[in-house]
Amino acid sequence: MLGVPGPVKDWPVPDWAVLREAAASVAARAYAPYSGLMVGAAGLCDDGHVVTGCNVENASFGLTLCAECGLVSALAAHGRNRLMAVSVVAADGWPLTPCGRCRQVLMEHGGPELLVDGGPAASPQRLGDLLPGAFDRSELEVRRGPGGTEPARRPAVG
Ligand SMILES: [Zn+2]
Repeated sequence: MLGVPGPVKDWPVPDWAVLREAAASVAARAYAPYSGLMVGAAGLCDDGHVVTGCNVENASFGLTLCAECGLVSALAAHGRNRLMAVSVVAADGWPLTPCGRCRQVLMEHGGPELLVDGGPAASPQRLGDLLPGAFDRSELEVRRGPGGTEPARRPAVG
């Protein structure tokens, strides 16, 4: 059984086997005709619900959507709020680590305490350890002016 991260006391405890199974199941529906790497992601929300996503490749390659992107879209589409644990696996159940872009995407919806599955033979890792010094909304808020909508102006020089 895993410890509950952060100050929140009522978070559900992640059942990694269930998350991996959900991720592998949705990976079977991935659209990956170019790489052949079918990926699924499953995330445990703070209300106990599980959301999933799969990768969707594109002939342009640069427009390919990772499974985590689909997961975050499902999170919003289902009116869920926050992720607390995520498992990403290939269709055969092999654990995968989120790419750099997806670490940033997941940070927005889970924060540094989000637990990322390390697979059955490894401990989960905090997203904050996988993406130290992440860019977040506080960077934007600091740079807004007093009204909150205008960018802060540089002080006049000279
Ligand atoms: Zn990714």
